[in-house]
Amino acid sequence: VKTGGKNGYRFFDPAFYGALQARQQLEKELQAAISENQFVLHYQVRVSTITRQVVSLEALVRWNHPTAGLVRPDEFIPLAEETGQIVALGELVVDSVCAQIAAWTRAGLAPVPVSINVSSRQFNERDMHALFLQALDRHAIPAHFVEIELTESAMLHDPQRTSAHLNAMHALGIRLLVDDFGTGYSSLWMLQQLDFDILKVDKSFTRLLGADRQGEILFAAIITMAHALGMKVVAEGVERPEQVDILARLRCDELQGYLIARPLDADGVQAEIRKRAIA
Ligand code: C2E
Ligand code: CA
Ligand code: CA
Ligand code: CA
Repeated sequence: VKTGGKNGYRFFDPAFYGALQARQQLEKELQAAISENQFVLHYQVRVSTITRQVVSLEALVRWNHPTAGLVRPDEFIPLAEETGQIVALGELVVDSVCAQIAAWTRAGLAPVPVSINVSSRQFNERDMHALFLQALDRHAIPAHFVEIELTESAMLHDPQRTSAHLNAMHALGIRLLVDDFGTGYSSLWMLQQLDFDILKVDKSFTRLLGADRQGEILFAAIITMAHALGMKVVAEGVERPEQVDILARLRCDELQGYLIARPLDADGVQAEIRKRAIA
C-alpha cells in the first residue's frame, strides 16, 4: 500500500493511525463548535494583595461539548492553534467577553476589567487592533475594561507589526499583560519591545515559594525589576496560605489562584466580587 508523503510509513502503525483519526475527529468537532458557538467563558478573579478586592477577571474558555461536557482549554487550544481555528475561536472569545461586560453593566453590576488571552496566530492572521475596536464599539464598552494577556510566542512572528498593533490598542486604554513570565526563551526581550502594564509571573515560580529559598530570591528580583519599570506584578497559581504571606512581604501587587478562587461562571464570579466588596 502506498500511503504517500515522506512519513507515509507511519500509517502502518495502528497507534499512530488511531491518534491521527482522533485528531481529525476533534478538528471536525471543533469546527462545528465554532460555527455553533459551543463555548462558555469562566472567569477567575485577580485580587489586590492588600485589600483582597477584585481588580480584574481572567476570561478562560471552556468547550461545552454536546456529549463530553465541559472540556478544558488544554485539550483543544493547542490543536486550534495548529489548525488555525484559534483565529475564529479567538474572535468568539473577544465578542463574548465584551457582550458579558455590557450585560453586567446593564444589570447595574460594577464592571470589572476582564483580561483576554491571545495567541500568536491571532496576531499573525488578523488585525487585532481592528478586531478589538469593533467589539468594543459593538457592545459600547470603554477600552479600559479590557486587558490583553500575551506570551512571548505571540510576539515572535512579526515583532514590529505586533508591537504596532499593541501600541495602538494600549493608546486606546487597553492594558497589556505579560503572561507566564519567566518561562519561554526570552521573556525579558518582550519587556524591551513594549510598554507592558502588568507582569504575570508563571505559576511554576509561585509553586517554589515556601519550599525553596531560590524561588523566593527569583520572585523578589522579578518584582524589583517590574516595579522599577513601572509595572504591577501578579502571582498566578497561588494555592497555599504561606505563599500569600511571602508574596505580601515581597510586595507582590496582585494574586490569582485556586486559594483565592477557582475559575467560576459569570454568575458565580459576580457573587465572588460582591462577597469581597463587603468583606
Ligand atoms: P493561562 O493563561 O496560564 O491560564 C491560567 C490557567 O491556570 C487556567 O487554566 C487556570 O484555570 C489555571 N489555574 C488558575 N489558578 C490555578 C492554581 O492555583 N493552580 C493551578 N495549578 N492552576 C491554576 P485553564 O483554564 O485550563 O486554561 C489553560 C490555558 O488555556 C490558559 O493558560 C491559556 O493559555 C489557554 N486559554 C484559556 N482561555 C483561552 C482563550 O480564550 N484564548 C486563548 N488563546 N487561550 C486560552
Ligand atoms: Ca493567562
Ligand atoms: Ca499564565
Ligand atoms: Ca499558560
